[in-house]
Amino acid sequence: MTRPTSYQKKRDFSKTPEPPSGGREGKNPIFVVQRHDASHLHYDFRLEVDGTLKSWAVPKGFPKTTKDKRLAVMTEDHPLAYARFEGRIPEGEYGAGTVKITDHGTYENLKETKMATSLRQGHIEVHLLGEKYRGGYALIRMEGKKWLLIKMKKQK
Ligand code: MN
Repeated sequence: MTRPTSYQKKRDFSKTPEPPSGGREGKNPIFVVQRHDASHLHYDFRLEVDGTLKSWAVPKGFPKTTKDKRLAVMTEDHPLAYARFEGRIPEGEYGAGTVKITDHGTYENLKETKMATSLRQGHIEVHLLGEKYRGGYALIRMEGKKWLLIKMKKQK
């Protein structure tokens, strides 16, 4: 048996409708934004990197202009299957509240370095190809799990 991931350790899958694992990789990496009405409303931004969803909780949601800088707190990796998850996490469970997909699409890495390297370096630049979110966004690590989500002026 493989060791449980931190995602799995936080959850009781007999109680939550969230997927324990799974999801398939497509041709292009995907992103998803999920509105999560938990104890504090936030938006979860997830990017597919090497078969998992790298995840950030963005309390104030996506920046609307290139002047907005939004705090994005990195959270545990989620399985790819989570990108299709919508539903209600029951009271008393981790992340209790409703999850609704705000946008879903593919993205392109705007940097020459691989996404995994950019993650380690704390500087990601992606071009989102969603319905609501299209264009360049950067994630810059400040300290620890705190990153900033910025809408980029530079486009493809
Ligand atoms: Mn969340």
